[in-house]
Amino acid sequence: MKIIDHSVSYDVVVVGGGPGGITAAIAAARSGAKTLLIEEDLVLGGALTDYYVAMLCGRPTQGILLEILQECIQKYRLQRGINWFMPASWIKAIANITEKEPNLTIMTGAKLVDVETCGDKIKSVIVLCESVMRRISGKVFVEATGTGLFAELAGCEIMYGRDARSDFNEKYAPEKRDEQVQHVTWMYISHKLPGFKPFDMSKLENAKLGILPQEDIWFHIDPQRAINANDGVYLHWGCRVECKDTRDSVAIGQAQQEALKLMERDHALLRENGYIVSLAPKIGLREIRRVKGLHVLSGEEIIDNLFPDDTIAVGKYVLDVWGENGVSSDKPKLGYGIPYRSLVPLKISNLLLSGRVISGSHIAMSSYRVMPIVGNIGQAAGLAAGLCALNNTSPDNIDVGTLQKMLVGPGQNQILTP
Ligand SMILES: Cc1cc2nc3c(=O)[nH]c(=O)nc-3n(C[C@H](O)[C@H](O)[C@H](O)COP(=O)(O)OP(=O)(O)OC[C@H]3O[C@@H](n4cnc5c(N)ncnc54)[C@H](O)[C@@H]3O)c2cc1C
Repeated sequence: MKIIDHSVSYDVVVVGGGPGGITAAIAAARSGAKTLLIEEDLVLGGALTDYYVAMLCGRPTQGILLEILQECIQKYRLQRGINWFMPASWIKAIANITEKEPNLTIMTGAKLVDVETCGDKIKSVIVLCESVMRRISGKVFVEATGTGLFAELAGCEIMYGRDARSDFNEKYAPEKRDEQVQHVTWMYISHKLPGFKPFDMSKLENAKLGILPQEDIWFHIDPQRAINANDGVYLHWGCRVECKDTRDSVAIGQAQQEALKLMERDHALLRENGYIVSLAPKIGLREIRRVKGLHVLSGEEIIDNLFPDDTIAVGKYVLDVWGENGVSSDKPKLGYGIPYRSLVPLKISNLLLSGRVISGSHIAMSSYRVMPIVGNIGQAAGLAAGLCALNNTSPDNIDVGTLQKMLVGPGQNQILTP
């Protein structure tokens, strides 16, 4: 197929419009860099709009992600007290914030399919827009696809599945390395039609996966209180299944079939009781590739609440490895720091990592993958990319102290301490 050169070249090109990519693109644009955000879907949002992951877990929500959340709360709140949002609200809130950024261009419906490199540098990315292939060049690139495919195509070192205990000295890791990833979950939203009585959701087969009517009230824990609190609309962690390989379309297709069958009885029950079921457009993949960087953040560093000298984002969330017992018991009480070194991949000199693909172990990723932490990482990756592009330097040469100072300053408003 013929490739058409895109007419504009950018300082920073961010690929992936989820929480890790949106925050990166806005931060890069605010640094003064001419920035392009490329997203394969027709709308931005990532897991929020694809998987209906419409609730922020973990902390702290700050900086750019907080701006989007506040826009959502002020203009599109579902109902007082509810701590999740209709996915469409996020689309609108993101649009309201991004349209104010003069340095930011957004390209949706554009799937990255190839990467052109010269030595250790990415020259351009090839994206497929409808049936047209476009070549887009830039100075610095940000990998925020959530899949790690961009980095793999660029020639970076990829990690997939569970690391061995001895790899990063992690007590919860298995003895031997394998390719097992976290379960996949198909989420959905149910709405009660007028004239029907509230249905006791604990009668659903998959109720224990979680149905969230209102802040702090999970249906399977206190059904009556949940009915009283809100009788109209629910966010469901529909059902969870194993996916043999989250990089493989056939395996994802099989997981989808299995999940649909598992949810059939629950969805019939909901329909009979007057509820509309809105299934998320895609089954939710928690874990795909991770990209190896200058440092691999480990689960032990998170448990030990380490804040390394090059901390550029903070996080606070349990180790939450779905399908494996015992791991979520270690709560990082004081939180932990994400080192800048985990955003700098090996082998490619003009790429930064953002979101859940950063360089961390399988166990560590189970904590920092939640959206507030991903948003903090994204903001740091984007600002770093902007600084690199504007100063003609590479991510491994940046002055991390300057980056840290700018992150806590006006326009970025991050806190990098416990
Ligand atoms: C079932 C499930 C439940 C979860 N529950 C929660 C929760 O309750 N709270 C919470 O905070 N977190 C939750 N998470 C985790 C969280 O949603 C993700 O880890 C987070 O969204 C990752 O952000 P990201 O930006 O790295 O990737 P994503 O959100 O996946 O965004 C990546 C974006 O890149 C785009 N993209 C991918 N490939 C290409 C390509 N080739 N070209 C162009 N664009 C591309 C995708 O379309 C997508 O929009 C959950 C995840 C799952 C799967």
